[in-house]
Amino acid sequence: MDMLFEEVAKAYSQIEAESGRINMTKILADLFSKTPPDLLDKVVYLTLGKLYPDYVGVELGMADRLAIKAISIASGLSEGEIERMYKEMGDLGSVAEAALKRKTQMAFFVEDLTVQKVYGNLERIAKATGAGSQDRKIRLLAELLNIAKPLEARYIVRMVTGRLRLGVADMTVLDALAVAFAMTKAVREKIERAYNLHPDLGYIAKVLAKEGLEGVEKIGITLGIPVRPMLAERLKNIDEIFEKIGPRVAFEYKYDGMRAQIHIGEKVKMIYSRRLENVTHQFPDVLKAVEEAFQGREAIFDGEMVPVDVNTGELLPFQVVSHRRGRKYDIEKMVEEIPVILFLFDIIYLDGEDLTMKPYEERREILERVVKETEKVRYAHRIVTEDKLEAQNFMDQAILDGCEGVVAKKLGPDAIYRAGVRGFLWIKYKRDYQMELGDTLDLVVVGAFAGKGKRKGTYGALLMAAYNPERDMFETVCKLGTGFSDEELAELPKKLEPYRIDHKHPRVDSQIEADFWFVPSVVLEVVGAEITLSPVHTAARDKLRKGAGLAVRFPRFTGRWRTDKKPEDATTIQELIEMYKNQVKKVVE
Ligand code: ATP
Repeated sequence: MDMLFEEVAKAYSQIEAESGRINMTKILADLFSKTPPDLLDKVVYLTLGKLYPDYVGVELGMADRLAIKAISIASGLSEGEIERMYKEMGDLGSVAEAALKRKTQMAFFVEDLTVQKVYGNLERIAKATGAGSQDRKIRLLAELLNIAKPLEARYIVRMVTGRLRLGVADMTVLDALAVAFAMTKAVREKIERAYNLHPDLGYIAKVLAKEGLEGVEKIGITLGIPVRPMLAERLKNIDEIFEKIGPRVAFEYKYDGMRAQIHIGEKVKMIYSRRLENVTHQFPDVLKAVEEAFQGREAIFDGEMVPVDVNTGELLPFQVVSHRRGRKYDIEKMVEEIPVILFLFDIIYLDGEDLTMKPYEERREILERVVKETEKVRYAHRIVTEDKLEAQNFMDQAILDGCEGVVAKKLGPDAIYRAGVRGFLWIKYKRDYQMELGDTLDLVVVGAFAGKGKRKGTYGALLMAAYNPERDMFETVCKLGTGFSDEELAELPKKLEPYRIDHKHPRVDSQIEADFWFVPSVVLEVVGAEITLSPVHTAARDKLRKGAGLAVRFPRFTGRWRTDKKPEDATTIQELIEMYKNQVKKVVE
């Protein structure tokens, strides 16, 4: 069974015109229930602007130059004319739409575009490599545009250039599925569980449509498919940690590197980043080291990769290897110059068995049994103690050894590995003297204000938001205008341009009228002096006091673009509430 692509395009244009999250979900739900089950995975991926789940690592990103050629072929307008329109309109999708509108005055449609056809050609474009691949890509796109109606062309071109950006995220899709398949809250939890262990929404949607909930319940950990990482809550001192998860607590160094989930087996060898991107090819040395250290058949490990200074053996900030992308030769050179040590802190799967329901102590024992330490693969350094002084000394040593702080881990039978969940089974305690709040915040850019005076021509400040997972919305917490260097400021409009839209995004909750709006995409690290109640910001509105939200006072950009985080990985309003309560407690004490 196939489906007309026009149905999909119409749904997208409705979403684009929509200003509310609930309606957006409804439009998606309608689309999903209309979609034949066999095609549901494809429609889900396309809606997210992809062809596969992220971890497969195949991205759509055809160069504008090639897309312009294809539009020119399909519309009969010259490349120069298309370029001129592009300069004027700023969005190649709208250019394609306008160009085809001119053409359709003369032509009539002979063929209907189907979802299979669109997906098939996009897939061939994404996979085309080697000699002649540019021409092939142009031809494949032109073929679609030849059949496409103007509205369809708008979305095909946005997709193929990697700029669909409807702002539909995984949670939005989960909600839409819930509406489409009339599910209760309990059912929704089961789907989320499957998603945490096997984060492939297309696959889950298809299983749901074809086999119902029973099928979804059978979804579990699969070697080679990333598991959503377990995350830590935060507290500000050792006393609070013991109060929360004492009397006996494990403390591990919090290495300041890059999180790595390693899948290893006879045929499967992969490394996934925190946001589940496949980074295997950037760390061939780490993979090899794990193969040497691991004594079993197949496993999934959780750990942190940290660069070391070859001469002194000291741990280095991760930025020094964050450029391990690009060509093979460069990577080989960098592997030698700046080696990476892998500190393992967990194992979640071993030889066919899911270990996530086993307690932390047992997982750690298994880890130490199946991995022998080598120069490049070590266990995360740790102590288990009831003694606060010993814990504080351990923290001080962690800082001296180049770590960010410690992660306290709860002991006992309930200390399971909760995939995809941030909770108090793990508690991070960082020491950063400049920060009053005990941790940095990761906030999402949702809007901007035009600069004045010295900042004319760029943005004067950005409107920043935290994430509310319950509502799947971005709620504002502050205007951010400090911490940027002059160059950074000058570059902001260009860097944010790809996310610009002409109205507030449906998933943004703001009472403040910004001059510019963005699809929630970019995450910046911010420090602040304090969290206060605010009548204008919408984060955690009504949760602490009726009519008031939470705001960050004196926010400052740390200079770190958190490209390792999706907007949904940003600081949540629950975290803000915790931070707010913690400071209130401190004042009372
Ligand atoms: P941050 O910005 O503080 O790294 P995060 O949101 O990326 O926060 P959290 O779960 O809040 O992640 O903090 C724990 C992070 O610390 C893990 O994601 C991991 O990358 C890192 N880490 C370093 N050492 C450890 C350890 N021993 N146990 C668990 N996580 C560790």
